[in-house]
Amino acid sequence: MRHYDVVVVGGGIHGVGVAQAAAAAGHSVLLMEKTDLACGTSSRSSKLIHGGLRYLESAQWRLVRESLQERRILLDIAPDLVRLVPFHLPVYRSTRRRAWQLRLGLCMYAALGGFDRSTRFRTLPRQEWSRLDGLETDGLGTVLRYYDGQTDDALLTRSVMASAQKLGAELALPATFVDADLTDDGADIRFTHRGRPEHLHARVLVNAAGAWANTIATRITPTAVLPAVELVQGTHLIVPGELTQGIYYVESPRDGRGVFVMPWHGEILIGTTETRFRGNPEQVAPHAAESHYLLSVLRRYFPRFRHSAIATRHQAFAGVRVLPVGKGHAFHRSRETMLITDRGSSPRTISIYGGKLTGWRATAEHVMLRIAASLPQREPRADTRRLRIDPAPAPDRSAVRP
Ligand SMILES: Cc1cc2nc3c(=O)[nH]c(=O)nc-3n(C[C@H](O)[C@H](O)[C@H](O)COP(=O)(O)OP(=O)(O)OC[C@H]3O[C@@H](n4cnc5c(N)ncnc54)[C@H](O)[C@@H]3O)c2cc1C
Repeated sequence: MRHYDVVVVGGGIHGVGVAQAAAAAGHSVLLMEKTDLACGTSSRSSKLIHGGLRYLESAQWRLVRESLQERRILLDIAPDLVRLVPFHLPVYRSTRRRAWQLRLGLCMYAALGGFDRSTRFRTLPRQEWSRLDGLETDGLGTVLRYYDGQTDDALLTRSVMASAQKLGAELALPATFVDADLTDDGADIRFTHRGRPEHLHARVLVNAAGAWANTIATRITPTAVLPAVELVQGTHLIVPGELTQGIYYVESPRDGRGVFVMPWHGEILIGTTETRFRGNPEQVAPHAAESHYLLSVLRRYFPRFRHSAIATRHQAFAGVRVLPVGKGHAFHRSRETMLITDRGSSPRTISIYGGKLTGWRATAEHVMLRIAASLPQREPRADTRRLRIDPAPAPDRSAVRP
């Protein structure tokens, strides 16, 4: 039987992040992914590396501060993967959030970002409004411009895995976790690799299966207490068209939620919705009502789409997030990552629930701290705060498919 210090289940951003951090700390690591890297939520996000301006409304200060720190680090270590983009906040007579409230929010955002240059914002003079990609100006009173990060989430995930592999991590793909028994010194793990049953031992089993995390957790014996979480789906639309001035963060007239309208590979990406999801995350799919909701937001703010046939020409995709169970609207629920271990000291397994694309590196750092006592001392190979991440080449399908 093969032995590893760390075995990771799930090739989304959290799994590859932990594989990179563990390999950087000098550990032997294997990551298993059942379908393909980033095939889950990590290719269906809004593709933003951001502090999350809207999380200020739910007082998630710690999350915003850490996310802005991570944004700073990623802009430094992955300049070809994460770039700073202008964001516009238009304020109309009918907008619920007033200009003074948004300015106050942006001041807090700048403070939590350490008043870094990238946290500067300004009010756009009226004569510049005509350059804003045909933004509706009827009833418009103010446009605020600030900056946040944009990335290609799937490419980022593959690139972090490539970085982990350079540090010695192994990738098993396609490889499906079946079950595991916790032992005195770790976990005995059964999985299938390219259709064949295999067996290995890890000192720590990391469950980074995203929306499937509870399924994995229930297949580990003894089973840890499962957190009270639920799945919420988010849909995005891609419509033909161009935006040249950056991203627009607009308010849905229907319920006041913030919606992003973004340039994306020469088209326009609009998202997202938040709809309770029940069922197998494999089968998540956009609903017609979500598409109507997003198209109505686009038409409200960009008149050129009011009479065009985009309803028939758009593409849509949906992803699932893991959120703590709660009464209010998902929009206001905590986006903090939850780390659940089988025991307080020297855990044999740890599960990652929720979290953000932006925080993947910090989450991996937190995971390594929680499992440090279960792992042997090794010679570190790199510091992930400084290790450069370059874009991974396009995947060679023939090499990863059986
Ligand atoms: C609509 C939406 C928009 C978002 N936008 C943003 C954003 O703009 N910025 C931001 O910071 N965050 C954003 N997020 C959050 C962020 O995308 C997620 O937190 C993150 O992608 C989750 O990554 P993950 O690795 O935990 O899960 P996933 O990416 O889903 O990865 C889990 C992996 O586990 C694999 N797996 C499952 N079962 C098994 C098994 N038995 N064996 C092997 N492998 C298995 C799956 O195939 C999958 O690849 C968004 C989330 C949603 C839903």
